[in-house]
Amino acid sequence: MNSQQSIHRVSHEIKRRKLEVLRVTDITPRMRRVTLHGPELSGFISLGSDDHVKLLFATTPQEQVALDNFVPSPNAEGPRPAMRDYTPRRYDAESGELDIDFVLHGHGPAATWAAQAQAGQFLHIAGPRGSMIVPDMFDSYLLIGDETALPAIARRLEELPDNRRALVVVEIEDTAERQALTSAAQVEVIWVVRGEQDLLEVARQLTLPDGDLYTWVATESALSRKVRRVLLDEFKLDEAKVKAAGYWRLDATDEA
Ligand SMILES: Cc1cc2nc3c(=O)[nH]c(=O)nc-3n(C[C@H](O)[C@H](O)[C@H](O)COP(=O)(O)OP(=O)(O)OC[C@H]3O[C@@H](n4cnc5c(N)ncnc54)[C@H](O)[C@@H]3O)c2cc1C
Repeated sequence: MNSQQSIHRVSHEIKRRKLEVLRVTDITPRMRRVTLHGPELSGFISLGSDDHVKLLFATTPQEQVALDNFVPSPNAEGPRPAMRDYTPRRYDAESGELDIDFVLHGHGPAATWAAQAQAGQFLHIAGPRGSMIVPDMFDSYLLIGDETALPAIARRLEELPDNRRALVVVEIEDTAERQALTSAAQVEVIWVVRGEQDLLEVARQLTLPDGDLYTWVATESALSRKVRRVLLDEFKLDEAKVKAAGYWRLDATDEA
């Protein structure tokens, strides 16, 4: 099996970019799209639907100095800007635009910045450092997440051809958070309203699509782990075809 037919990772040179906010669009009451542009966006690459970039935020004057001189390195000492992971929702090389969709959850440097974002402001980004390539070799896809996973889920759905099936389960704050999802594939979307239904219970009751299945999960970290266990222990899914990630942590910043 060559790399074209297997799930594989591609590394990219980490580049830091200072980009300008071109426009701000509210997708739903709690999801804000920030479109970035600028000469430094040239050469940006994002090959995987669940790629992430690091967004850098200064919350103190010392961090601002660190941000202005920042070189991404795990060993960097001294004050460092806050870094948060976000999905490149859409990159259009022709128009030179990059969209990032922010959940306005009301806390933390990233959500706080997004809540006040305006055209003409600047945002520093770094990466993506790599892309997980999932070639189109599965019959069907099970995609489970919450609002933070919607950018990656939407990207995956947009990439799927018309002979694929996808079952999508998304936990949202309320029904106003439902987004239109576009795909050539046959897609069923189950919206799970937080507090009314339990994502884990909904996952347990799923009727999975037929055929060779790829499963992707991204939600709050502890919940992602539980959903993964249900998929492996109760549905007996093949671990090699299940990717589960924690996208945020309840009552903890993403600083670690
Ligand atoms: C690979 C990857 C891709 C991601 N892509 C996106 C994306 O495209 N869009 C997006 O919005 N998020 C995305 N996230 C999630 C995002 O990185 C986290 O939500 C992050 O914690 C936000 O940082 P913050 O500065 O806003 O809050 P933090 O400083 O990290 O946290 C502050 C407080 O807010 C709480 N909190 C954090 N996130 C949420 C949330 N979503 N809902 C409710 N409470 C929360 C924390 O528990 C904490 O109490 C992604 C995460 C990963 C790992």
